[in-house]
Amino acid sequence: MSLEHLKTVDPAVYQAIRQEEARQANHLELIASENWTSPAVREAVGSVMTDKYAEGYPGHRYYGGCENVDTVEDLARQRVLALFGGEHANVQPHAGAPANMAVYFTALKPGDTLMGLELSHGGHLTHGSPVNLSGQLYRPVAYQVDPVTERIDMDQVREKALAERPQIIVAGASAYPRSWDFAAFRQIADEVGALFMVDMAHFAGLVAAGLHPNPVPYADFVTSTTHKTLRGPRGGFIICRQSWAKAIDKTIFPGLQGGPLMHVIAGKAVAFYEAQQPSFQAYQKRVVANAQRLADRLMAKGLRLVSGGTDNHLLVIDVKSSAGITGKEAQERLALVGITVNKNTIPFDQEKPTVTSGIRIGTPQVTTRGLGLDEMDRLGDLIADVLTAPERPAGDRLREWAGVVQELAEAFPLPGLDSRD
Ligand code: PLP
Repeated sequence: MSLEHLKTVDPAVYQAIRQEEARQANHLELIASENWTSPAVREAVGSVMTDKYAEGYPGHRYYGGCENVDTVEDLARQRVLALFGGEHANVQPHAGAPANMAVYFTALKPGDTLMGLELSHGGHLTHGSPVNLSGQLYRPVAYQVDPVTERIDMDQVREKALAERPQIIVAGASAYPRSWDFAAFRQIADEVGALFMVDMAHFAGLVAAGLHPNPVPYADFVTSTTHKTLRGPRGGFIICRQSWAKAIDKTIFPGLQGGPLMHVIAGKAVAFYEAQQPSFQAYQKRVVANAQRLADRLMAKGLRLVSGGTDNHLLVIDVKSSAGITGKEAQERLALVGITVNKNTIPFDQEKPTVTSGIRIGTPQVTTRGLGLDEMDRLGDLIADVLTAPERPAGDRLREWAGVVQELAEAFPLPGLDSRD
């Protein structure tokens, strides 16, 4: 994208953006929640729609001049429902966290019981963590993964639900490498009289491509981000049953947010269009195939993966037990050679969340730039070598390993990156 005006008006911001472009281009981004948006999405987000106030909803705004923003919001709503099914969509949540809070504010009273996956077992902060409002306004209870299989055990979920009688059960996670059994969750929710919400932020792209069960037929509410596997701009949305439509819309505006980010909603509309194309399904297949190939390679090199592999776009390596280092050290070592990951707790982790025993790795971004199975083999070998080395890479070793990353980054440039101005 040309930044010719920014270059003269604000050289400091210009410089930072160009450096970020270079960072993304020259490193391999293996953060499971990140991706690389298309130039079309970035054009929409960088458009004049950023200037428009549009409180309200299409056809019912509190401002004049909304005919064009109405068009994009209607397109976004129609397209997201065409992708996932469902009766009603709200595409205004500024991000995933407010989408989740909007469901809670709509469906729960303060003090009600909210049951989600334990944070340190892969759950998200907004699923009842005490440091988040979801764990302060409501009574949070958590289900965990099974200590042996490290998968969600539906018998345990049922026992917990029967004991705690939650008003809402939340499925979905930030670091769970396995598929979800939404029918079983629905059954448990019905048995205990709870509402059922699915936060599909991480695997929404897989659902859109038919590679992961679709939660929409089972859940009262489905929330998501748009910027992870779905490959859209940063943002969120909610799909719900018609009976909740009015209440959800009222919670988002005027309850929780003011004017919608119409430029981002335009970007969401474009991303939903892109996700309807056959090439998107092919892309998601490669995302999963790459994650599974990387998982196999890492395990073959002796690293332990939480739950023994992956069904989706991410994997969690227990670096503590298999390489004798912490997640923090693993993240820092990989950064030295040009690979970006994040430290992550593993189930029943003994380390602090700022240290952790694991790292989380995802394939959405590198798959967008075209890396395939052969490159996963090379990456798997490299990651294993860096993590199991007796010390941090330095000297010739560092140059050699960083050289492999540089070679891959150059062979697979970020599609549509154009830095001329
Ligand atoms: N839900 C899940 C499962 C997530 O992983 C995340 C972010 O990582 C969120 C919600 C929050 O999304 P956001 O960062 O857009 O608020």
